[in-house]
Amino acid sequence: MTPTYDVAVIGAGSAGLQAALTLGRMRRTVALLGTDRYRNDPAAAMHNFLGHDGTPPAALRTAARNDLDRYPTVETVESEVVDVAGSTGAFVVRTSTGAVVRARRVLLATGVADTLPEVPGLADLWGDVVAHCPYCHGFELADQPVGILGSDASVPLRAAMLERIASRTVVLTDGSDLDPSVRSDLDRMGVEVRTQPVAGVVRGRLGIDVELDGTPSVELGGLFVGPRWEQAAPFVHRLELDRSEQGAILVDAFGRTSRAGIFAAGDIAQAPGLPMPLASVLTAAAAGLVAAAACDRELAASDHGLLLPA
Ligand SMILES: Cc1cc2nc3c(=O)[nH]c(=O)nc-3n(C[C@H](O)[C@H](O)[C@H](O)COP(=O)(O)OP(=O)(O)OC[C@H]3O[C@@H](n4cnc5c(N)ncnc54)[C@H](O)[C@@H]3O)c2cc1C
Repeated sequence: MTPTYDVAVIGAGSAGLQAALTLGRMRRTVALLGTDRYRNDPAAAMHNFLGHDGTPPAALRTAARNDLDRYPTVETVESEVVDVAGSTGAFVVRTSTGAVVRARRVLLATGVADTLPEVPGLADLWGDVVAHCPYCHGFELADQPVGILGSDASVPLRAAMLERIASRTVVLTDGSDLDPSVRSDLDRMGVEVRTQPVAGVVRGRLGIDVELDGTPSVELGGLFVGPRWEQAAPFVHRLELDRSEQGAILVDAFGRTSRAGIFAAGDIAQAPGLPMPLASVLTAAAAGLVAAAACDRELAASDHGLLLPA
């Protein structure tokens, strides 16, 4: 019989690594399971994380893994998880290699996967001059013309956020009509709108050239897009946890999901009062810490038949 870990932390990005650190410091036995795929893989530099602004994302993870070496109760398993079964106190985690990990609690930190709009050339520039988050990759485009690809109701706010960064903002609707209220907000803000279909994007003199049907290319420093995202790990769907309309796992302020014994943190999870997950490296790490601490307190209480304070 394999040993039963206190916690199986599934996912070794910033949420999972921080969760493992918090649990390791409390001498919890932890199996940290992950693969070598991370959401910010396409980006060469990570921004908006104190002390690490502009460093490669992999450098932070390497430093975090080095930190974990100090905690002998944390075991790292480089493996893809394909199934989680069982219940509080007796979860069974199965990996793609057929290995089985038993754990009293499960902390999910498997992240999300992005699907970009279907524009030729976009994927090649994703994480470089094509980005989705102005907080992460806006400042690098300061004083340059910046594009927003999209036509939905979020576009005016996005344009307003970029106002102090971009020298000029151009909304590219890729052939879609704008809702009249969206159009009037953009007109009022003086934002240029191009409604022609986008034929493709290529690396350009300023950063990126957007090729529009029948007109000269629009030369931009960078382009913001709104990718669709979904859970990166297929097994998460089978857990039947309560989810938001967008597909995020709903958690309480302590990272507890709707199923006893299962916690979630990072991009996969949405906390109360928020319209969406707060997707950044720092918020994922913070959520990992909170969920791990909640998990540890729950284990400590259950070991001695104590009631957790409300
Ligand atoms: C292009 C791009 C650039 C970004 N730039 C920034 C930035 O500059 N600053 C910033 O703060 N944020 C940035 N972000 C957002 C940031 O990447 C995420 O918010 C952050 O990575 C979330 O951390 P996480 O731990 O939840 O998920 P991830 O970092 O994606 O980690 C997920 C983990 O789960 C594992 N996993 C997935 N499926 C399985 C499975 N079946 N079995 C086992 N393990 C599994 C993966 O291997 C990985 O270890 C960027 C995002 C993108 C797309």
